[in-house]
Amino acid sequence: MLSYTALIDDATKQLYDTTETPRIDSEVLMQHVLQKDIAWLIGYGDTFATADHRKAFYDLVAKRHRGQPIAYLIGRRDFWTLTLTVNENVLIPRADTETLVEEALERLPKDGRIDVLELGTGSGAIALSIAKERPLANVIAVEYHNKALDVAKQNGQVNNITNVEFRLSDWFADIDQSEQFDLIASNPPYVEPNDPHLQQGDLRFEPITALAAPENGFADIRNIIEAAPSHLKDNGWIIIEHGFNQAEEVAELLRKNGFSQISLHKDINQLPRCTCGKKSAVIQKAIKR
Ligand code: GLN
Repeated sequence: MLSYTALIDDATKQLYDTTETPRIDSEVLMQHVLQKDIAWLIGYGDTFATADHRKAFYDLVAKRHRGQPIAYLIGRRDFWTLTLTVNENVLIPRADTETLVEEALERLPKDGRIDVLELGTGSGAIALSIAKERPLANVIAVEYHNKALDVAKQNGQVNNITNVEFRLSDWFADIDQSEQFDLIASNPPYVEPNDPHLQQGDLRFEPITALAAPENGFADIRNIIEAAPSHLKDNGWIIIEHGFNQAEEVAELLRKNGFSQISLHKDINQLPRCTCGKKSAVIQKAIKR
């Protein structure tokens, strides 16, 4: 008979070559099996493990050994102040993307009845984080894939956030011209289709449509930036996440489409990660002529 701690020690060795965080991964999987927090493991880890717990744990460890992401194995991931359900139909929310949320909140007054659009919501991470911080905002979150939209809706319900409307749409296709926004946010697919990272780590198990885009990763970013001005109110903002090496091209696309006050922001790893631009009323009129 082995204790829970002994099983974790054993799994840590097994996962040594699979992950950079073999002990944390093992602990998280055990917590999931037991439905207990880390405090329980510290206090009672030397208890003998039941056969059922042992089997359930080693099943998960085997999947992790084959590379499956922890977030999919335990079915959730923390993002901003939320705990979100995730499965293989949605991109796993990344801490990198919290930069985009911060920049959006900077630009959204707390007391205003503002209209926000998120394009390609996946798990709902961005839309729900903004909506929770700005309860008076009306947020529309669109998603092209039905199964992903189901996850986003579930996350809205579980987190009790009622000011997000989830809508099936191919980018702006089902956004009516009469719906005009103060801010449009998106973390679209932007990885180059032949980027070797797609064959490594968690990315192998995530939906490729949420990761990679044609035109060296720029196809969706370009579509969104080109279409955004006609859906933004005057002085409205666009905030878009992109690859660390795509900032200059994104800024150029924004300038070409009449945006001003363009600024680049870094993620927690100090890598360029998202760019903001303001729709200037004057420039837009000049372009229309
Ligand atoms: N930043 C992610 C990654 O490379 C990609 C997310 C995306 O394409 N939107 O892991």
